[in-house]
Amino acid sequence: MIYPKKYDVIVIGGGHAGTEACLAAARMGCSTLLLTHNIETLGQMSCNPAIGGIGKSHLVKEVDALGGAMALATDKGGIQFRVLNSRKGPAVRATRAQADRALYKAAIRTILENQPNLDIFQQAADDLIVEGETVQGVITQMGVKFMAPSVVLTAGTFLGGKIHIGLENHSGGRAGDPPSIALADRLRELPLNVERLKTGTPPRIDAKSVDFSSLEEQWGENPLPVMSYLGKVEDHPEQVCCWITHTNQKTHDIIMGGLDRSPMYTGVIEGVGPRYCPSIEDKVHRFADKDSHQIFIEPEGLNTHELYPNGISTSLPFDVQMDLVRSIKGFENAHITRPGYAIEYDFFNPQDLKYSFETKAIKGLFFAGQINGTTGYEEAGAQGLLAGTNAALRAKEQDSWCPERDQAYIGVLVDDLITMGTKEPYRMFTSRAEYRLLLREDNADIRLTEKGRELGLVDDERWRVFCEKRELVASEHQRMKTTFIQANSPEAAILAPKIKAPLNREYSLLDLLKRPELTYADIASLKGEAVDNGQVAEQVEILAKYAGYIDRQQDEVAKLRANAETLIPNDFDYSNIEGLSNEVKQKLIEAKPDTIARATRIQGVTPAAVSLLLITLKKRG
Ligand code: FAD
Repeated sequence: MIYPKKYDVIVIGGGHAGTEACLAAARMGCSTLLLTHNIETLGQMSCNPAIGGIGKSHLVKEVDALGGAMALATDKGGIQFRVLNSRKGPAVRATRAQADRALYKAAIRTILENQPNLDIFQQAADDLIVEGETVQGVITQMGVKFMAPSVVLTAGTFLGGKIHIGLENHSGGRAGDPPSIALADRLRELPLNVERLKTGTPPRIDAKSVDFSSLEEQWGENPLPVMSYLGKVEDHPEQVCCWITHTNQKTHDIIMGGLDRSPMYTGVIEGVGPRYCPSIEDKVHRFADKDSHQIFIEPEGLNTHELYPNGISTSLPFDVQMDLVRSIKGFENAHITRPGYAIEYDFFNPQDLKYSFETKAIKGLFFAGQINGTTGYEEAGAQGLLAGTNAALRAKEQDSWCPERDQAYIGVLVDDLITMGTKEPYRMFTSRAEYRLLLREDNADIRLTEKGRELGLVDDERWRVFCEKRELVASEHQRMKTTFIQANSPEAAILAPKIKAPLNREYSLLDLLKRPELTYADIASLKGEAVDNGQVAEQVEILAKYAGYIDRQQDEVAKLRANAETLIPNDFDYSNIEGLSNEVKQKLIEAKPDTIARATRIQGVTPAAVSLLLITLKKRG
């Protein structure tokens, strides 16, 4: 049957990409359908129940700045919050939350069920309706045809999913869920480039069987941070402790002894795994000189005894998993509740996508999440938001949108995937962004919320909070710029014990804030009243302390934009550019970019290298 309601956008898959995609399209006023295997698994975290971390929190906050759900759900589900790199500069500072997986899922489901313009339907999508080169809709497992001009596919690890534990393997989308075989077969008939990747997860442990007395405790941050720009500390549930333990020589011997039954080391698994999140067998094999690896023991939730031992992802046979777990301090009598496993799945070469995430081969068909060769909830959520937005724009017959590399980590992610493709699961790092000081996690709203409002992604409440913050930052910056403190004044006396060089002239509060030893809290209320808003205070402080660096990056961006279309002749000799490293020269020789814009997108070609390239091109005339 053809379903009587025609939709503007259909999203297949209710994981992290799918939920952000359908919410984005629905917020933009499009009549949207979310078609997913199982309503109970909406927003399910397949692996570690943790959101954020270095590079990843930047994506979460960008999704939030554009009205997405991930950060709000993290504030409702986070049972331990940490700020990573807190002693380093604001560019690489990152918030990470351990979540209660049930609370996180419940928060996502509540947001989905309360979203106007969104219908949810539980059923596998087995086929796409494609006429000529254009998608028209989706056919479900029981033959229902849903029609829409835009379809977003976010099937995660489910397409042709194969689960491995030792030399045993079976089909599955992830443990406990069916794979997507019919759809995977259908997609292989379409002109799309399909390849295989793999990822893995550790065995879960029953806390009742763990000896915590021998383990190192790790508590979260105090004061507690929030993930969303709208988040409130009061939204957080009870906060809990994590623990740290380590593998040892005995663990490593057990692992090495089991490699002859490892699907990875016997060639049973063909897909490439995530380099930055290797299995424990990979770590022990590759870094044979290390006699110990750290394991973070993280609770899976407030109302469960299950623990996630972060650092021992494995696909070794179950008997080896039991032995290796029990060789670890604290786990001597551990009971495994779920075995670790690896999963192989289909992904599509992202170089076959447009910047909107629409496939080049099939009009109206968009791809987002793990199927584009990425790994991680945050990477998936960010892509989902972008694909859902562009699917909605297409349905409305409007131009597509994608942020630039200097505007958002989402822009970096998309540009990396589309220009370079990927041979291994791609994850975000701050080092992938050239303009880290502009793309901080604290200013994602300043960078993106206005655009989100224009696109229809940002609701009235978020817009009100944002405008208020933006105005407060501007007025507080101005107040600090025009409020002065004299040498030998009572205010100078208050500051004296905190400062290195004494005040010997008149200073504005803003000048004082530039001193590394002083914080906003130290000086804002010396004269007049400080703002009672942590986010505003943080902005004012960062903008003062890093003004020079931020201005320099903004100049670089402006210069690069002005020169983006400068042509590079095909026969250009890179070996003659003075000051360029051999590595960068090699990359340029191999990639042969035809414009400066393309050269900037080659990984490892820094803004400084591009400046040298420009100078040489100009000399050449
Ligand atoms: P998913 O979260 O997988 O969601 C896909 C959704 O689509 C599911 O709801 C599914 O039911 C639905 N679906 C699929 N096919 C159909 C269909 N035909 N019809 C209807 N619905 C369908 N990430 C890390 O960052 N680090 C890790 O260490 C890590 N380890 C992992 C280990 C394992 C075993 C697995 C399975 C995943 C791991 N991940 C890891 C990846 C992480 O889970 C994903 O990056 C993230 O969930 C991707 O989000 P997604 O929305 O693309 O897909």
